[in-house]
Amino acid sequence: MTPRWDDEADLVVIGYGAAGAATAIQASRLGGSVVVLEKQAQDRHTPSTRMSGGMFMVATDVERAATYLDICAGGMVPREISRAWAERMMGLVDWFHSLGTGQAITYTGKCEHLDVDGADAIEVWQPGTNPQKLAPGGGAGRALMAALEKAVAATPARVRYATPARRLIREEGRVVGVLADGPDGPVRVRAHKGVVLSPGGYEYDEETKLNYLRGYPMYFYGNPGNTGDGLRMAQEMGAGLWHMNQMIGRAIGNFPMPDGSDLSFIIFIGPPGYVITDQFGKRYAGEHIQAGLLHGFYYSMLEYDNDTGTSPRNPSYWFFDETRRQAGPLTLTYLGACAVGLYEWSPDNSKEIENGWIARGETIEDAARAAGHPAPEQAAAEVAEHNRRCAAGEADPLGRPAETMIGLTKGPLYCVKLVPGGSNTTGGPTRNAKGQILDVFGEPIPGLYGAGELGQPTGMRYPADGTNLSEAMCFGQIVAEQALGRETN
Ligand SMILES: Cc1cc2nc3c(=O)[nH]c(=O)nc-3n(C[C@H](O)[C@H](O)[C@H](O)COP(=O)(O)OP(=O)(O)OC[C@H]3O[C@@H](n4cnc5c(N)ncnc54)[C@H](O)[C@@H]3O)c2cc1C
Repeated sequence: MTPRWDDEADLVVIGYGAAGAATAIQASRLGGSVVVLEKQAQDRHTPSTRMSGGMFMVATDVERAATYLDICAGGMVPREISRAWAERMMGLVDWFHSLGTGQAITYTGKCEHLDVDGADAIEVWQPGTNPQKLAPGGGAGRALMAALEKAVAATPARVRYATPARRLIREEGRVVGVLADGPDGPVRVRAHKGVVLSPGGYEYDEETKLNYLRGYPMYFYGNPGNTGDGLRMAQEMGAGLWHMNQMIGRAIGNFPMPDGSDLSFIIFIGPPGYVITDQFGKRYAGEHIQAGLLHGFYYSMLEYDNDTGTSPRNPSYWFFDETRRQAGPLTLTYLGACAVGLYEWSPDNSKEIENGWIARGETIEDAARAAGHPAPEQAAAEVAEHNRRCAAGEADPLGRPAETMIGLTKGPLYCVKLVPGGSNTTGGPTRNAKGQILDVFGEPIPGLYGAGELGQPTGMRYPADGTNLSEAMCFGQIVAEQALGRETN
């Protein structure tokens, strides 16, 4: 039976972050009409794009960049998809300038795995003229999202806020529209050329995380609105799934809020001295990786003890001294919950000590005990051994560079629980190089496309800071062109 349509456009885009915005911009440039359905109300619209660091990856050579992406993907992504991405990354800086938003962007550095073939063809860019000096609360992610919103506002594309998509509508095997909950009741929006799924990942969908990610519990510090809705909508259409076990991971903080909910935060452990132990009070990996805000430490946190059915590194415990407490907030206040006003972290961490998020003690053992560490004496012994090595100038058995070997000597001493988590999941509906979503047999589902972190084509290793936003903006452009059957020059 033909449903009654309440609205219509060539493209219906589900989710208004970087991917949805890039799709809307590119489709509008090509003359296509666009309706974007956004779950959150306009005054509470906190896509991960807005919470982010705003960094995006670009390429300087197609084949070398494709090689780099291909190696990082570890076999999880066909090379032709990495190549299509690399090709689009070549023009990403120009594309961003062409939006005419007046937002400056700056080169900020190279990729994460400098020894991987093709690494020389990868750069990272970020909004701002001096991103290192962005003010707390005024982060580059906010600037990026604001620029994209400005560019969308200059097109005829319409954004319907507070309108979560619920179901895709299919006729004769083709996705032809979306059923959503509008502020005044259900709305059916007809898509003449295609539906683009860009609603973010499943960072806040406990069941999907439990069943698919490599460890559990797992926490994220991005948009609480990203609850895996797109996954279920695509699955109902018969979509295949890929790299559902992948995410952009690191050790993070997860803390209770007064209303019974919880919030997660990116945690900046350096500088100066730091030690992270498991629940037995033992160090297990070089903490400098976490201090460098790289993404490898997370893999070390996943160990599972089959005998006891426990994960002895989830949570782990981070120890530091008064010097670190005074050095500034333990989180980066220009990112995540702080950047979008969900929480205000105190400059000297005093509020978070009061909250009980940071445990304090006269000794490491006291601090460990206050944090609920199951083995406070062993943890104290481990920190004492670290301090002894630092004083003696001995090499670290876990490979920490000499300059990071700084003892925890100035009291009071502190302990914070850290959990595995990160910015976002990357698994989702399988796609091809055109951004078409594929069914369980690898055939495109007519009328259905994907862009953004839900099913983004990354695999085992995180290629560079800026991978997610690069993918969102590159594949947003690609799916707009594919769905409209046209390409821009
Ligand atoms: C603190 C932090 C720092 C980060 N820094 C970087 C960085 O510097 N560089 C980088 O590349 N990546 C970074 N990331 C990751 C990156 O921000 C995200 O992966 C990226 O923004 C995803 O873009 P997106 O458009 O796919 O999703 P989002 O930007 O999250 O947008 C998805 C939108 O879909 C909406 N939505 C969800 N469900 C529905 C539904 N059913 N119907 C309608 N709408 C729906 C959501 O409300 C949201 O507005 C960071 C993330 C965080 C949290």
